[in-house]
Amino acid sequence: MKITDLNPVGQIGAHSQLVEIGSFRLLIDAGLNPEKVGLEACPAFSKVEPGSLDFIILSHCHLDHLGTLPLIAKDQRQAKILLSTPSMSLAVRMLTNSHNVMRHQKEELNLPEYPLYTRQQIQALKKQFLPMFYEQARCFKRGDDEIEITFFRAGHVAGAAGFLIRHKDERVFFTGDVLFTPQKTLPGARFPVNKIDTLVMETTRGTQSRPQDQERMDEVSRLLKATKDVLDGGGSVLIPTFALGRMQEILAIVHEAQQKGSLPVSAIFCSGLGLDLVNYFDEISRTTGLIHFRRKILKDLHVQELAGSLKPGRDVPQRGLYILSSGMLVEHTPAYQVAASMLSNPKNGIFFVGYCAPETPGGRLLRTAREEVFEFESLKYKTPARAQFERFDLSGHADREELLDYALAVDPSTIILTHGSNEARQWFMQALKDALPKTAVIDPTPLEPYTV
Ligand SMILES: [Zn+2]
Ligand SMILES: [Zn+2]
Repeated sequence: MKITDLNPVGQIGAHSQLVEIGSFRLLIDAGLNPEKVGLEACPAFSKVEPGSLDFIILSHCHLDHLGTLPLIAKDQRQAKILLSTPSMSLAVRMLTNSHNVMRHQKEELNLPEYPLYTRQQIQALKKQFLPMFYEQARCFKRGDDEIEITFFRAGHVAGAAGFLIRHKDERVFFTGDVLFTPQKTLPGARFPVNKIDTLVMETTRGTQSRPQDQERMDEVSRLLKATKDVLDGGGSVLIPTFALGRMQEILAIVHEAQQKGSLPVSAIFCSGLGLDLVNYFDEISRTTGLIHFRRKILKDLHVQELAGSLKPGRDVPQRGLYILSSGMLVEHTPAYQVAASMLSNPKNGIFFVGYCAPETPGGRLLRTAREEVFEFESLKYKTPARAQFERFDLSGHADREELLDYALAVDPSTIILTHGSNEARQWFMQALKDALPKTAVIDPTPLEPYTV
């Protein structure tokens, strides 16, 4: 197998890999880098000849995996796009939103190349979609050559998959983004445990270890307690979340806490895309049973869509709980605007529940000391960081120790690291060398082909 990482900047970036195995050529994911804009945010698709791919495999619908799918697919109309059934509806919805965001950014940031694709090109993807069911292998033939692809449940977010590619005697497994622990709305990953030749694995949490005695549920309790304290103290809480998955998970957690009486009833605000995705989650839950979520939660919680005018430095007009995207507090998003309203008031709380890339505003805020001046650059607004802000470890990604255990269980000859900061990859490189001394561990240089 030959594999080329097409994410030009390493780190997490725009996830995309070109895989050549036997006579087959596959692309794994087509992401958009959340830390960059314009063509800089795209994978190096110039390395993929038009009309050359047999398959594009989509691991899940977060934009760092999905955001440039129409861009590559328009030159690869012969390629089948393999994706889980929940991803079929979510992908179109997420891309349509991304298209709208790009239309606004075009003027604002002077990006003539935006939007990177048209609405018609998003719709045209549907003709290429080939639904995959978990743990049901599909075999594809060309002449004497044959490849078998199997999707496995990856936890993480609705529709997420790891996948096994078998070609002759060679077995290659891609973890995609994975969470082994079950969430309120989603069961954890179920991956194959027999011998694998090459393991391509994500490394998001390589720099964080979870203390032995600390469970995910403890973090849920800590988040609820902190939220209750702020609300009881007369402040508002902002929980920045990804619109896809994380927002619905937090809503389910808040719903349960309110029903049990452990969280006071308060006004709850969400942003548009996350609220709309609730309908998709309800549908996926009812039709596939792969997730557990009901639209009724919104009604029970009297969730309102964020509206009205916000001004940096002037506190939010209504006290309450704000569950808004983006999870990394990226500029020009509802969470960013609301954070600029809340940060100067010490009664408020800003509670992060997922990964923040270091150079995003969320990443910067988490490195800021209390009372230190924080700048909302695109709003041209600075304030001392007076609100409480904190990170709760409810990541959608597996603990590094769990990934290590998985690698040990499948005992691969080669491991290829992906989807993590340089430091995170270094931790895995060392830990894997210690645990599996006979295994070759590769941290690929972007755009360089590796034969394994
Ligand atoms: Zn993801
Ligand atoms: Zn990702």
